Amino acid sequence: MARWVLHVDLDQFLAAVEVLRRPELRGRPVVVGGDGDPTKRGVVSTASYEARAYGVHSGLPLRMAARRCPDAVFLPVDRELYEAVSDEVMAALRSLGAVVEVLGWDEAFLAVDGDPEAVAEEIRARVHAATGLDCTVGIGENKLQAKIATGLGKPAGVFRLTGDTWFAVLGDRPTDALWGIGAKTAKRLRELGITTVSELAAADPGALAERFGPATGPWLVRLARGLGGSAVSDAPHVPRSRGRETTFQQDLDDWTRVRREVSRLARRVADDVADEHGDVARVVVKVRYAPFTTRTHGSTLDAPTSVPERIEEAALAALARFAGRRPVRLLGVRAEFARPRPRPVTGA
Ligand SMILES: [Mg+2]
Repeated sequence: MARWVLHVDLDQFLAAVEVLRRPELRGRPVVVGGDGDPTKRGVVSTASYEARAYGVHSGLPLRMAARRCPDAVFLPVDRELYEAVSDEVMAALRSLGAVVEVLGWDEAFLAVDGDPEAVAEEIRARVHAATGLDCTVGIGENKLQAKIATGLGKPAGVFRLTGDTWFAVLGDRPTDALWGIGAKTAKRLRELGITTVSELAAADPGALAERFGPATGPWLVRLARGLGGSAVSDAPHVPRSRGRETTFQQDLDDWTRVRREVSRLARRVADDVADEHGDVARVVVKVRYAPFTTRTHGSTLDAPTSVPERIEEAALAALARFAGRRPVRLLGVRAEFARPRPRPVTGA
């Protein structure tokens, strides 16, 4: 197996692509999101570094972004363009002859041997030559280390994070610095008196198993020790779920309509599922109440299926679990596939 895992992530991808086609925007705060109108509903997809300096970040409502940074240039999401540029990026990565595992539009893992810094600089040069875009490359002994290294190397840098430097770099950081630990898990860990990566690494896996479950508990400790992650694989990407969501320009306060919209979204998801030839094990419904509180509930199917009626029923069963009947600004339905493709696990 290759000695090194490299994680490549384009810097401010959507904003950078927009600046490429409109060079007069270079150096200005640029916000890409929704249909580019900050008086309408929608959220930020990507903000340029200039806009981030004003506290604008992905997921922020566009209106809030306009308030924080009134001088920002707002642009609509141009999915087709980003997909085309993404294809060029991935082609540049594949031109190195390494195994490339695509993670998203602007992210990939590579398995490489030799001098990893030299390969990383070669990657940055080839991506820039092909697209004019900057990227950051994280170097690690596994995917987890490489992915976190990228965050530390941003922007336009190369950063190496290995077992030898893991605790010196991350030991005192909060647990949600780890890839896979979000705000919710970090909060539950804090309730157990575990705040930092070092504290989590020293925690008893058995005790965490009791609190988080037999698989997740010990996995959290392994994460904190910088271990694990599967091997880099160029097997075609198999999605684990398909989802659709809609933001309403006017809140829905009639829950009969909310039900109808959830049915409609579930049918569209069922169409997507049919395209993937997958069977659905669970359906999750997301409700964002006005002004901006988001809740999710799921419903597990009796048996995995792709039958649209069953998927719709499961979505409505999940919706029935929402206690609040307050006005709704966004609805989402996501179908999770049964049995994600197993990936080989490395010993590292
Ligand atoms: Mg990126």
